[in-house]
Amino acid sequence: MSLTLYNTLTKRKDTFQPIDPANVRMYVCGPTVYDFAHIGNARPVIVFDVLFRMLRHTYGAEHVTYVRNITDVDDKINARAANDFPDLPLNEAIRQVTSRTEKQFHDDIAALGVLPPTVEPRATEHIDEMKRLCAALVERGHAYVAEGHVLFHVASMPDYGQLSNRTLEEMEAGARVEVAPYKRDPMDFVLWKPSKPGEPAWPSPCGIDTAGRPGWHIECSAMAEKHLGPVFDIHGGGIDLVFPHHENEIAQSRCAHGTRVMANVWMHNGFLQVEGEKMSKSLGNFITINELLATKAFGASQWHGRVVRLAMLGTHYRQPIDWTAERLVQARATLIDFAKIVQGAPVADAPHDEVVAALADDLNTPSVLSIVHGLAKSARRNPDQAAQLNATLQFLGLLGGETPQELNAGVVTADIDAAKVSGLIEARSAARRAKDFKESDRIRDELAAMGVQLKDAKDPKTGEITTSWEVTS
Ligand code: AMP
Ligand code: ZN
Repeated sequence: MSLTLYNTLTKRKDTFQPIDPANVRMYVCGPTVYDFAHIGNARPVIVFDVLFRMLRHTYGAEHVTYVRNITDVDDKINARAANDFPDLPLNEAIRQVTSRTEKQFHDDIAALGVLPPTVEPRATEHIDEMKRLCAALVERGHAYVAEGHVLFHVASMPDYGQLSNRTLEEMEAGARVEVAPYKRDPMDFVLWKPSKPGEPAWPSPCGIDTAGRPGWHIECSAMAEKHLGPVFDIHGGGIDLVFPHHENEIAQSRCAHGTRVMANVWMHNGFLQVEGEKMSKSLGNFITINELLATKAFGASQWHGRVVRLAMLGTHYRQPIDWTAERLVQARATLIDFAKIVQGAPVADAPHDEVVAALADDLNTPSVLSIVHGLAKSARRNPDQAAQLNATLQFLGLLGGETPQELNAGVVTADIDAAKVSGLIEARSAARRAKDFKESDRIRDELAAMGVQLKDAKDPKTGEITTSWEVTS
């Protein structure tokens, strides 16, 4: 079976051909650990987890190396450390901030059904590799030293800009940043810079005698090389990283190693916005993964991580996604329905072929989910098909043995009994099937009196009606 993936570098869907099928290698830019990860950050984590699962399925679990880094050198981390731990020496404060945030990140994404990557390198543990890259770039004439900085000289790379598809002239015209006096050209970017007093600092490369720290882009070039080699298969991240971060990673790695590419396939997930608006602290719609999982958000006191995952996969990864309460309510109803069908069923050896085929088409998860709906429908009639549905849901990371009640958790506010609500909804569906609309309306009113709002959705293809609910009071 052939896997096709959309490649930002070639701007088309290409058949995926690993360099070495015995070791398929993928790098994804991970979080900067200074604060709780938000639900936009959850998107690449979930999307590339789906790809990781698909690669493991295709090439064998031992034949895939997935590297997702942790960025723990960053100005935002320094600022947070100084603010939260004013009494500690800065380096100690930074360790406190990064270890606290990293643990939170791991707990949050584990709840989303995300498998741990093969390697999770930290920037602070790869400083020597970064310094060696700086030295190699200077030696090869692609970088220069100026006022304690090492700068990449963009004009030294004739095909710079291939990934983001812009010329140097266009980029220069678009750059409004004030140009630092030590730069030869406005587009030249930092590989290494001097540290201010108190900031994290390491002995500098390239004969610079003041202490300094790496720029952001060089971190990923160094960690990718260390764990995957100079050329590997897939590099991923959010669409906002195409320029400048990934463009500059490519420039550094290719020029340091003299290679034609850094990675063969570049993949980018679309952006997530909330209720039609860009997520931002000032708009008050900034939601962390943790708030979604553990506190009140989007009309419920908590959302199960697998429900969040299903809600995310309802949109193709390259499209923008609009995150709404409606989406979560719908995902919860669907997943509870699936969980009821597979409850107590064994797990078959393999996921359903059609699901694997839809994933092989550039991770077409909306198509995957409509196939899964069909499988669920026939498994409801033929319980012996539940084992394969179960295997398929586990393969997709959508279920890992959760009961319907667990998935409904969080809907239980102080005085609402979720089991009672589910029972009433079932009774209402039965009444409707029996065309006893008086009774079904009575149940709807009883639920409304409890503060529970029902929403019926009709599947346009099958005509099947699913009922979801949310707490309105
Ligand atoms: P950061 O910690 O900001 O470097 O982001 C970590 C990852 O999350 C990167 O791959 C970003 O592209 C991605 N990301 C950040 N914000 C969003 C968003 N609103 N929607 C989708 N992906 C995002
Ligand atoms: Zn990166």
